[in-house]
Amino acid sequence: MSINLQTPIDYLKGVGSNRADLLRKELGIHTYQDLINLFPNRYIDRTQYYKINQLQRNNAEVQIIGKLTSFKEISQKRGKRLVANFMDETGAMELVWFRGQKWIKESLKLNKPYVIFGKTNWFNGKFSMPHPEVEALEAHEKNLRSAMQPVYPSTEKLSNKGISNRVISKIVQQLFIESNGKFTETLSNNLIDELNLISKREALFNIHFPKSQALLARAQFRLKFEELFYIQLQLIIKNQVHKSKIKGFPFEKVGHYFNTFFKEHLPFELTHAQKRVLKEIRADLGSNAQMNRLLQGDVGSGKTIVAFMSMLIAIDNGFQACLMAPTEILSVQHYNGLNLLCKPLNISIKILTGSTKTSTRKKIHESLENGELHILIGTHALLEDKVKFKNLGLAIIDEQHRFGVEQRSKLWRKNTSPPHVLVMTATPIPRTLAMSVYGDLDVSVIDELPPGRKAIKTVHRYDKNRLNVFKFIRDEIAKGRQVYIVYPLIQESESMDYKDLMDGYESIVRDFPPPDYQISIVHGKMKPADKEYEMQRFIKGETQIMVATTVIEVGVNVPNASVMIIESAERFGLSQLHQLRGRVGRGAEQSYCILMTSHKLSNDSKTRLETMVKSNDGFEIAEVDLRLRGPGDLMGTQQSGVLNLKIADIIKDNDILHSARYYAKKTLQNDPKLLLTENQAIINTYKELVRYKNIWNYIS
Ligand code: ADP
Ligand code: MG
Repeated sequence: MSINLQTPIDYLKGVGSNRADLLRKELGIHTYQDLINLFPNRYIDRTQYYKINQLQRNNAEVQIIGKLTSFKEISQKRGKRLVANFMDETGAMELVWFRGQKWIKESLKLNKPYVIFGKTNWFNGKFSMPHPEVEALEAHEKNLRSAMQPVYPSTEKLSNKGISNRVISKIVQQLFIESNGKFTETLSNNLIDELNLISKREALFNIHFPKSQALLARAQFRLKFEELFYIQLQLIIKNQVHKSKIKGFPFEKVGHYFNTFFKEHLPFELTHAQKRVLKEIRADLGSNAQMNRLLQGDVGSGKTIVAFMSMLIAIDNGFQACLMAPTEILSVQHYNGLNLLCKPLNISIKILTGSTKTSTRKKIHESLENGELHILIGTHALLEDKVKFKNLGLAIIDEQHRFGVEQRSKLWRKNTSPPHVLVMTATPIPRTLAMSVYGDLDVSVIDELPPGRKAIKTVHRYDKNRLNVFKFIRDEIAKGRQVYIVYPLIQESESMDYKDLMDGYESIVRDFPPPDYQISIVHGKMKPADKEYEMQRFIKGETQIMVATTVIEVGVNVPNASVMIIESAERFGLSQLHQLRGRVGRGAEQSYCILMTSHKLSNDSKTRLETMVKSNDGFEIAEVDLRLRGPGDLMGTQQSGVLNLKIADIIKDNDILHSARYYAKKTLQNDPKLLLTENQAIINTYKELVRYKNIWNYIS
C-alpha cells in the first residue's frame, strides 16, 4: 500500500509541530507531497576530503576530517562568538559560531575525530569556517550516503532554528522509509516507453539520493517533463472547456461593410501574414465559441488594419465593436486613422478618453445604448460602469501588455454574454513564455512586415559624439525627414528625469534654433489638449523634431519620421527600446535609431545595446530579454510569479517544454476525456493536481 501523500507534514517522524510550522511558513511545505516535491537546488560531491593545507582562498565548500582542540568565547559588539580550534595532521583552522553556542559547546567533544563541512573564509592569515556542519567520524562512516549530496532550498530562519540541510535530508529520508519508497506512477506507460523515462519512484529516489550522475540526470529530465506536461495539459483542457462552455455570438456572415471596404477602400494590399491572421479570426468569429485570441505582430507589422477589418465583420452581423488602447495619444491616433476609413462606409465611430467633455460623453453613452454607434475607441475610460453597449460583439485591446488581467476581464463583462476578445501586442512574448502563460489563448502571429520597408539601421554612440549625431540630424532634416529624441522617464527618479528632459530640450533648441527648425515637446505632465496639439504639429510636418518621454513608446505612427534618438539608452529595457525604435521605419525612407549612452555601462546594459544593434527581430530580442530578466519581470508585475516552477526552467528547458506540449496535445487528441485505461495514471494525477490546487500555483 502506498501512503497518503496528502498527510500533513506534522505526522512525519522527526518533524513535530514546531518544525512543521517552520516548514510551512518558510518553505510552504504542508504535506508529505510538498516535501517529496522539495527538489534540491544543487548537489555537492561529498566523496572528496580536503586537508587543511590544501585549502584555497576561494570560499568553496569543503569537507575535512580533524579534531577540535579548544574552545574560546570572544566578545563582540553584540553578543559573543564561539571559536573552536580545529586541526588535522597538516594544519589548523577555526570553526566559528555566532548562535547556538551553548548547545555546540555541550555536544561537541574535544580531541575526537569529526568531519566538518562548509564554506571556508580566509581572514587574518587563517582559514575559518562559520557554522560548519559537524558530524562524528564514526557516525559519518556508518551513514549511508550517496556521493552526490543534495542541497535543499533554505531560508535564514530555518538555519537559525536548526533546520539545516542535513535535517531536511533526514526527514526526506524518513519519508522514503515510511512510504517504503512506493510512489504511485504519474505518467502513462505509453509516455514512459516512448520517451524512455525512468519510473516516478526511481526518479524521486534519485532526485533526493542520486546513485550516480547519470541517474540524477534522468531523474531531473523525467520530473521536469512531468511538471511541464501537466501545465500544458491543464492549459489545453482549460482552453477546450472554455470553447465548449462559453458560447460566443456566431458572426455568420461577411457582409456589406467588410466586402465594400475590401473591394473599394483598402489602402494597400494586405500582406500574406495579415490575410492568414484575418482568416484565423474570421473562423473564430464564425464558430459558436467565444473567441479569445492573442494577436502578436512586431511593431509596424500592420495589426491595426486587421483589427479594423475584424470590427467590420462584427458590424456586418449587427454588433458593436470597441478598441481600447493604453494611452490617450494612441487612442487619438487610432481614432483619427480609423475615422478616415469609416467615413466612406458610413460607419459611426467615436472616441472616449479621460478628457472627453461631459456633454460629449453623455451623447456617446446614449448612442452606445441605443445602438447608433458602431465603434468606440478609447482608453481605460471604456471600462467605466457608465459605458454600456447595446450589443458589444467584439472587444479589441491594443498593446495588451500595458493592461492588467482585471482590465481584460472587465471588458468581458460588458455584455450579458462575453464578446469576442482580440488582444494585440507588439511586445513579442517569446514563444516559450506564450506557450506557458497564454497557453489558454489562441495565438495568431503576423510574422511579415509590409513590403518595401527597409531594416532600421541601429547604432550605439557615446555622449561625447553628440556633435556628430547633431550633424547627422541636420542632414536628415535637410532631406525632409523628421526626428524623435526620447528621454527616459522612470517613476522613481521622476523629477530628475523631467529636469533632464527640459535641459535636453533647451540644448536642442539652442542647437536647432528657429526659424530654421521647429521643435515639439510631449510629456506626461502636459494637459491632453496640449499634448495633442504638439503631436498634431509633428504629424502634419510643421515641426521637424519631437522631444518626448516614453509617452510615444506605443503605437505612434508618423511615417515621415525616420530618425529615433534615444537618450540614456542604457536605462531602458530591451522591449522598450524595441518599441521606441518601432516608431521609425514606417515609411519608404531608410530609417535610423541612435542609442546614446554615457561611458559607464553595466554588463546587462552592454548586452541590451549590442542586441539592439544586431537585431531588428522582436522575437529574437524578446528571447534575450527573457534571459536577462527572467519570466516574472518580463510579464510585468500583474503577472509576476505566474511561473512558479518547482524543477523546470522555462528558458533552459525550452526543449523539454516543447516536447511536453507536443505530448500533452497528442494525449488529448487520442483520448480527449482521458478515459482510456492506459491514461488512468494521467487523469488521476491531473485530478489530484487540480483538487489540491498544486497546478493553479502556476497560473493566475
Ligand atoms: P502595428 O502592428 O505596429 O500596430 P500599424 O497597424 O500601426 O502597425 O501599421 C504600421 C504602418 O504600416 C501603418 O502606416 C499602416 O498603414 C501600414 N501598413 C499596414 N499594413 C500594410 C500593408 N499590407 N501594406 C502597406 N502598408 C501597410
Ligand atoms: Mg499598433
